[in-house]
Amino acid sequence: MFKQNLNYRFMFATTVAIVLIMTVNFTWDYYEQKRQSYQELREKAQVITKQLLATREFIAQKQDRINFDSQGHFEFKGLNPAAVGRGLGDIFASWTEYGIKQTRLEVRNPKNAPDEYEKQALYKFQADPALQEVWGEDTLNGRKVFRYIVPLRVNESCLPCHGEPAGSTDIAGYPKEGYKYGGLAGAISITVPMDIFISNLRSDMLRHFGFIFVLLGVTLAAIYVLLNRLVASPLSQLKKAAAEMGSGNLNVDLTNVKAVGEIKELAMQFQDMALQLSNLYGNMEQQVETRTRELQLANEVLKAKQQELEKANLQLAQANEHKSRFLATMSHELRTPLTSIIAFTELLLENMDPEDGLSRQNLQEIKVNGENLLNLINNLLDLAKIEAGRYQLNLETVDMVDVIGSVERVIAPLAMKKGIDFKTRFMEEIPLLKADPEKIHRVVENLAGNAVKFTPQGGKVEIKVDFDRETQTVLVEVNDTGIGIKEEDQERIFERFVQVDNSNSRRYRGTGLGLALAKELVEMHGGWIRVSSRPEEGSAFTVGLPVAASLEEGKDG
Ligand code: ADP
Repeated sequence: MFKQNLNYRFMFATTVAIVLIMTVNFTWDYYEQKRQSYQELREKAQVITKQLLATREFIAQKQDRINFDSQGHFEFKGLNPAAVGRGLGDIFASWTEYGIKQTRLEVRNPKNAPDEYEKQALYKFQADPALQEVWGEDTLNGRKVFRYIVPLRVNESCLPCHGEPAGSTDIAGYPKEGYKYGGLAGAISITVPMDIFISNLRSDMLRHFGFIFVLLGVTLAAIYVLLNRLVASPLSQLKKAAAEMGSGNLNVDLTNVKAVGEIKELAMQFQDMALQLSNLYGNMEQQVETRTRELQLANEVLKAKQQELEKANLQLAQANEHKSRFLATMSHELRTPLTSIIAFTELLLENMDPEDGLSRQNLQEIKVNGENLLNLINNLLDLAKIEAGRYQLNLETVDMVDVIGSVERVIAPLAMKKGIDFKTRFMEEIPLLKADPEKIHRVVENLAGNAVKFTPQGGKVEIKVDFDRETQTVLVEVNDTGIGIKEEDQERIFERFVQVDNSNSRRYRGTGLGLALAKELVEMHGGWIRVSSRPEEGSAFTVGLPVAASLEEGKDG
């Protein structure tokens, strides 16, 4: 979380950059200062050695004047270059912290004996006659010191005391070393303590550090303040505004955001966006309100229409019920006189003189038409009852052999009379059914009656009973070799009052109610009825009655 902070990232990056730059600068500075200090020390040492060499040279040249008095008497004063050099060194040492020493490998005075550093330098000078100086850092008595050593080469002025022949005594009473011109006579060694230099360097570095810290502190503070004021704080205001907008409040005010440049522009754009969103939202709400109102209105209209429709529906249902009740009553009322007309006609026919052919024919016609009318009325009565919901099945255990037998008794004489071959056939053992035997009888009789009716003389009609074990359905098929039904009419014939062809129906008589009723009755038993037929070849009507169907029970009326 903290690491994600913009301030932190900027400050971290700046710190890293500053520390990196300053470290490089510091290191470079340190070495540069050290180099300069060495250079300075070296120059100082060079001046001192030159001075000493000059003094020694001067003393060497003035030996005669020093050791001879005005009368020409020689007296060695002890002021040879070595003695003067040593004396100068001692004085220098007492005044300053600098050490000046003359040294060589074979010393006359043990005080001049070389230390380890000087010994190394002397070896180097001996090995390399062109080498002019040796310098560097060393530790002496636990102190850091700068060492500077130059070679002393044998010149003219040295030879009287140190030249040939070796072993002979010089003016100072020492045996001569036998040096040759240009050879290494010894060295002048300067030692400068480095304390001041080190403390200078240290204070310089400290100043440097101080500067870095101050710079870092000021830079970080500036970044913090600037970022906070110019970026972080306006951004957090923007964030808050965005959150408000997210939660649905579009009335945000960003006009007084303290920002400049791009962030100010961003804030203003944000403000604009909020305003536009707010307008859009307002419009939308208004539109939704209008639409809702329209919808409510439409809904009310729809409701009114629905109520009207329900009312009309109710009236229609009532009218329908009235019609059905009227039909049922009328049919019932018609049945009684019609039955008695038929009965009296039969009685008259029985008692009639067999010779009176015309009267007999007329009475026969009355009887047939009466029976047709009774059939029509019966069908009408049943359909009206079904429609009024007052038709009830009287369920019993039915044996199809009985039902088909009773149908056969009605149909066989009709078929025989018309010269049609009529048969019934049981394909399987048929299980008992839970059904209304009278209704099943009517269905099969209707189908068989139609088959005989629509089959010309010499044709065949068959009732075939089968059982489909898979679907547990009893199948009753009534087929004939009659006039058949066109494909397009095969569905329509199950509707009420539909007869395929008017001329046919007139020829064959009928009402167009038989199949409609058969269909209703079969479906009340949970079954179905289908037709398959070809014109001029014959028809097959199949009724399926499921053994285990849940039977629909009509209501008693
Ligand atoms: P209908 O009293 O006219 O026979 P149905 O409802 O029993 O009334 O039959 C409707 C029509 O279906 C008949 O008029 C006839 O056109 C046709 N039809 C029914 N059965 C047969 C059949 N076995 N062969 C040919 N046409 C038939």
